[in-house]
Amino acid sequence: MDFLTNVFHTLIILVGLGYLARRVYLNLTEASRVAKSTQTLAEYLKKYPQCRTTRGTQCVVCNSMSIKNWGFDGPNDERRVFICNQCNTRLYRSEHW
Ligand SMILES: [Zn+2]
Repeated sequence: MDFLTNVFHTLIILVGLGYLARRVYLNLTEASRVAKSTQTLAEYLKKYPQCRTTRGTQCVVCNSMSIKNWGFDGPNDERRVFICNQCNTRLYRSEHW
């Protein structure tokens, strides 16, 4: 009986570790996918110089000045993604990723 309990506990731990490893893996690959497919602010302004205005940066698609600043993996994540509030286009990301 003790043996079976041990096997059972080991299985639970393995499943838990597998789940965690999968989460970390998915998060890392998703992070690098977003980093690769999203330009930095410097690249964005170089590509669309008209988006640099005296009042700030604007959306290249709809010219909105309202851009939300999102943490990639939650509000405290230093990896920031900037998304237009008006048309939901992902515009640029923070330099440090
Ligand atoms: Zn927009």
